[in-house]
Amino acid sequence: MTFKELQVIEPILKALEEKGYTIPTPIQTQAIPILLNGKDLLGCAQTGTGKTAAFAIPILQHLFLDKTRNRNQRQIKALIVTPTRELAIQIADNFTEYGQYTDIRNTVIFGGIKQGSQTNALQRGIDILVATPGRLLDLMNQGFISLKNIEYFVLDEADQMLDMGFVHDIKKLIAKLPEKRQSLFFSATMPKSIVELSTKILGNYEEVTVKPEQATAERVGQAVYFVSKADKPKLLVHVLKEENVASTLVFSRTKHGADKVVKILSKSNITADAIHGNKSQNARQRALSNFKEGKTKVLVATDIAARGIDISDLALVINYDIPNIPETYVHRIGRTGRASASGISISFCDVEERAYLRDIEKLIRQKVPVIANHPFLDESKEESTQTKKPQSNNRPKQAESNTKGL
Ligand code: AMP
Repeated sequence: MTFKELQVIEPILKALEEKGYTIPTPIQTQAIPILLNGKDLLGCAQTGTGKTAAFAIPILQHLFLDKTRNRNQRQIKALIVTPTRELAIQIADNFTEYGQYTDIRNTVIFGGIKQGSQTNALQRGIDILVATPGRLLDLMNQGFISLKNIEYFVLDEADQMLDMGFVHDIKKLIAKLPEKRQSLFFSATMPKSIVELSTKILGNYEEVTVKPEQATAERVGQAVYFVSKADKPKLLVHVLKEENVASTLVFSRTKHGADKVVKILSKSNITADAIHGNKSQNARQRALSNFKEGKTKVLVATDIAARGIDISDLALVINYDIPNIPETYVHRIGRTGRASASGISISFCDVEERAYLRDIEKLIRQKVPVIANHPFLDESKEESTQTKKPQSNNRPKQAESNTKGL
């Protein structure tokens, strides 16, 4: 299957070719024809599957072919709502790239920075708006944005949206959308609350499900180091020096933990930066671009901050701690080995995290190979594994709901 066979039009094909996309991913193969047909879509898929292009290409194509679209007085015809600023910026960048040979304009709005440049862009006129919910409602209330001309509406990462407490904002938004529109709803997981929300948004829809867990886990080379909590900093420095790769993403469960890891690395002269919710938007963007440009070797991120960040050529992912939700592990390791590439994922597992590791192995239906010959091996593993076993049923409720579906 090729993009041409999916009836994608020439100006978009040209842009995709330049991006090096030759074969559509499974979600693209399934979703593009449905969307070009004008149907609503329920997509059960997460970031890393190519879902952005799956919705961006048909929206660009519809708008490009729309003879009624007024190029001199642009109206917002497509709205994409996504939970995080990073994801919003990335989606807008993708629209710009895929639409570079069309005359379709987009802009992105999100909170945490002054609104001036965003309202200027809106006033110059755009066809597509990518937004996080809070800033969108804010600018709607101030009269900078009207949704009355929306023909295409995408709710992205719906499960994370609910986890982050955006449910009321979303309901307010839906109430302002025109009845007649094409709606797309994406979520990595489909618990009851999400299904309910989707029924409020979608009309007569088709469903596409892409389950990348198994595929991701098969593509990425994995290893686990058994280590005591106290030795994790030393092991991290050791592994980074041994692996000596250009770019490493280190996951930390907490914001505080992420900052601590950066300090440890700085002491060992390894350039590192952290991104998490306590950092300003500018600091996060700076950290991200320094990392992408190779100025910092290591980026330390929490799960929420890292979700959706698209960094190509990421050679190594390190789980500084083991996530207590197995799906989070799959999402983390999927940051390396994106689309068709392969990568390496290394996990540091202390005694208290062994139960989490077992849950992960159950989900991915494979054993993660253990690295037995390293200087910080935690010898107490057998006994501790036994005594700590009940822990997997004893997870903190808060952590569970926070990371659900990540
Ligand atoms: P997404 O799930 O939209 O975040 O996409 C994940 C990554 O896959 C991004 O880096 C995209 O640029 C890349 N990608 C999307 N579609 C394709 C494709 N058909 N071929 C190769 N890479 C792709």
